[in-house]
Amino acid sequence: MSDKYQGFTSTPVGKILVKNLGLPNPTPLERWTEGAPLVDGTVLVGGRGRFVESLPGLLDTLGIASTAIKPDEGRLKGLVFDATGLTTAAELVALRDFFTPVLRSLEACARVVVIGTPPEQVKGSERVAQRALEGFTRSLGKEIGKGSTVQLVYVADGAEAAATSTLAFLLSPKSAYVSGQVVRIGAHAAKGATGAEVGQVADPAQPLAGKVALVTGASRGIGEQIARVLHRDGATVLGVDVPQAASELQALMKELDGDWLTLDITGKDAPQRIAHHLKTQHGGVDVVVHNAGITRDKKLANMDEARWESVIAVNLTAPELITRELLDQGLVHDHGSIIGVASIAGIAGNVGQTNYAASKAGVIGFVDSLADELGEAGNGITINAVAPGFIITQMTAAVPFATREVGQRLNAMAQGGLPVDVAETIAWYAHPGSSLVNGNVVRVCGQMMLGA
Ligand code: NAD
Repeated sequence: MSDKYQGFTSTPVGKILVKNLGLPNPTPLERWTEGAPLVDGTVLVGGRGRFVESLPGLLDTLGIASTAIKPDEGRLKGLVFDATGLTTAAELVALRDFFTPVLRSLEACARVVVIGTPPEQVKGSERVAQRALEGFTRSLGKEIGKGSTVQLVYVADGAEAAATSTLAFLLSPKSAYVSGQVVRIGAHAAKGATGAEVGQVADPAQPLAGKVALVTGASRGIGEQIARVLHRDGATVLGVDVPQAASELQALMKELDGDWLTLDITGKDAPQRIAHHLKTQHGGVDVVVHNAGITRDKKLANMDEARWESVIAVNLTAPELITRELLDQGLVHDHGSIIGVASIAGIAGNVGQTNYAASKAGVIGFVDSLADELGEAGNGITINAVAPGFIITQMTAAVPFATREVGQRLNAMAQGGLPVDVAETIAWYAHPGSSLVNGNVVRVCGQMMLGA
């Protein structure tokens, strides 16, 4: 399931053909390994607003070296620009003034983060200027190249201290395949959760120590990686999968010192069985990842009822019912995290996938509908979703060659992502420091052109 084209582009013949024919030239993406620093290099910080003074100290707590002055020599691994102080369209030129002189000094796989204020929370020309940041960051993401990424983080006034886990994720190789995204922190009502109380973890290497994580569809593909990454971060994982996958699931969960439950999540009593197991064996749950999913593609003109029903049942109805049961029984601990796995098909639509895209757009609606409810409830439980693009798994291995090639290249990174890229994004949502990251849908798609 490797990317053969990417391998070919690094051969001598491949290099010549790529250069002369102008073919896509995917940069091998850096990915985080245990024990490595979050950022292997220096980050330049600048801008004007609520953040610029505190940024160097904040990055220092993460072990990230920063500078406020462009070094004469050496290259930069990241750029962070505080745009919260830009209040008119004319002031947007500060973006050009900061970025243009330094873009050529960036190393490969560099990270760029622009920080703004959620436009909906300000008025008049300030709202205009803050909204403009979105077009700027999405365009820079498409032109920056060399495996680098660009994101916009809107942080509500007062939620500054809650941005640390997000900066750690977006500045590190953990966000290898996330680009052109807009994240909102503190934009949904979150009674009781203050910026100051979040992010207090005893051991930064194990932010989920003592936590219990439920992962559906955990026996293979993206689910397997989610289980591995959450375990790496200290969680005890309860993996759920269908009985046919029992042996793979058990082997993995034994390896991860976790627990398992084999059932079909669409079964009538599945929500109650999961809830009962979590209650009796683990005393509740902290992280709920609705990863199990299926495709049953056919154009709508040929769509039989079974294809429609099964996809909606697994991808959408089951996550809704399981979440409701866990919440109603009070089994999700305070500051818990519920995470849906959507898809870019749910954003852009796709031929032959009316059922799948409806289910995945529904997952986004599920996040929208619960985010405010949970925020209002005031116990710090969040709900967010990832929307993977082309991720190299058994699911996408089944896609015909030509479609697969197009799917892999039509993004700013010119390559498919890996299951670990989705898993790292989920681990960021689950991090105790992400208590004000609520109601987000972040695409893990290398900034795919579809539905951009
Ligand atoms: P996969 O088919 O490799 O794994 C899905 C897992 O879910 C399997 O272990 C399967 O047994 C389990 N599952 C399916 N139906 C179930 C049920 N009724 N009850 C319990 N378990 C069930 O798929 P993947 O590529 O790893 O995808 C994981 C998730 O990511 C899915 O929700 C998928 O829609 C989504 N996704 C994947 C991609 C991609 O490119 N691979 C892109 C976008 C979204």
